[in-house]
Amino acid sequence: MDLNTTPEQEQLRGQLREWLRNHLPWEYGVGLPPRFDDLGDEVAFGRRWQSDLAGAGWVAVTWPVAYGGRGLGPAENFVVQEELARARAPELVGRIGVNLAGPTLLAHGTAGQKARWLPSIPPAAALWCQLFSEPDAGSDLAAVRTSARPVDGGWQLNGRKVWTSYAQFADWGVCLARSDPAAPKHKGLSFFVVDMHAPGVGVHPLVQLTGEAEFNEVELDDVFVPDDQLVGAPGEGWRVAGSTLSHERGVNPRQLVIHLQHLEELLSLAATSGAFDDTRLRRKLAQAYVEVRLFQLHNWRSLSKLQRGLEPGPEGSILKLYWSEMSKRLHSLALEVLGPAAPLWRDATANPGAGSWQRAWLYYQAASIFAGTNEIQHNVIGERVLGLPREPVAAEGGP
Ligand SMILES: Cc1cc2nc3c(=O)[nH]c(=O)nc-3n(C[C@H](O)[C@H](O)[C@H](O)COP(=O)(O)OP(=O)(O)OC[C@H]3O[C@@H](n4cnc5c(N)ncnc54)[C@H](O)[C@@H]3O)c2cc1C
Repeated sequence: MDLNTTPEQEQLRGQLREWLRNHLPWEYGVGLPPRFDDLGDEVAFGRRWQSDLAGAGWVAVTWPVAYGGRGLGPAENFVVQEELARARAPELVGRIGVNLAGPTLLAHGTAGQKARWLPSIPPAAALWCQLFSEPDAGSDLAAVRTSARPVDGGWQLNGRKVWTSYAQFADWGVCLARSDPAAPKHKGLSFFVVDMHAPGVGVHPLVQLTGEAEFNEVELDDVFVPDDQLVGAPGEGWRVAGSTLSHERGVNPRQLVIHLQHLEELLSLAATSGAFDDTRLRRKLAQAYVEVRLFQLHNWRSLSKLQRGLEPGPEGSILKLYWSEMSKRLHSLALEVLGPAAPLWRDATANPGAGSWQRAWLYYQAASIFAGTNEIQHNVIGERVLGLPREPVAAEGGP
């Protein structure tokens, strides 16, 4: 695998770095995004930022030009995501549209659906959410109970979705629902685009471990969805949703750079706090260094697969499993290095990082749950990467 970037990729990197130096609302790579007390203000700020970024051609760069992209490859996208994270640019507020809904529509949408929805995603003119999980269907996603009953001109949806990130700000939602209750579990599902402003859609924010309410419970009460908002044929929902899920797991240059930055900050915190004098902590810090470097290699391995035109595939589960567990260890170690300051929160005095380490620890607890829990990743790796049997094989002659 050739890890060297091409002169063209380095030129792209230089152009973006220059643009960021001139357009970031804070000092490149040093300043941090302002902290908002109201998530709505943060989203409004994020929409303006993403619109500027898209206006300069730095969002959805792999998409076709017709839909706001630049038709670039996975390696160029990797460079762009790396540079945005290095600059500490805000995470895209429209990331569910750019990373999940958009690629799904590119793979399965009709020409009309692509023309209708894709161009508004890069500039955050429309925001999207993912209406998959339900109270009784999270890991067992194919067990969704939201019903989709055919009616004149479309479908009527009824059900309850939960843990739906950014639903309170979304204009559209990609939704998995059961359109044929008589069909086998995976065959009775269809994939819809729901207008989040339609009558019958109720959104209720849920407060997370971090104290913020990024995700929601969403009620669908006799919500009408026109026929032209069905993606794929009726009963093909599981296949279409499979595309969405495969984009949740795979190369993650943004998290890679963030963890390289957190590692660097943790090592300098350890240097100033005296943690390096503690042999046990010193060993753990060395281990953390190795683990973040391994995350880099995992990313490069997945990137080389994409560069060969191959789909992310089940190997994406290895990367998701690896980085989420590595991240939880790194942020737990940060609390150890903080020592007596660990239980403090924002605005407390004598608290290195002003609560950012504590918030990161809380936030990354979710990393082993979202995008499929790590137990499920183990199952995927066991069954689809290693080819292990789905059910344990009874020992020869055993019961
Ligand atoms: C921050 C965050 C954001 C999220 N955003 C979204 C979103 O935008 N849209 C959306 O649709 N969902 C979202 N989710 C939901 C997420 O996808 C689910 O939480 C996840 O799939 C797990 O489902 P569950 O919570 O229902 O847990 P359950 O499926 O009830 O699992 C409970 C426990 O049982 C284990 N378990 C379950 N089945 C098996 C099995 N077969 N083998 C071994 N162990 C098993 C699980 O690993 C877990 O430890 C989000 C979650 C979080 C934390």
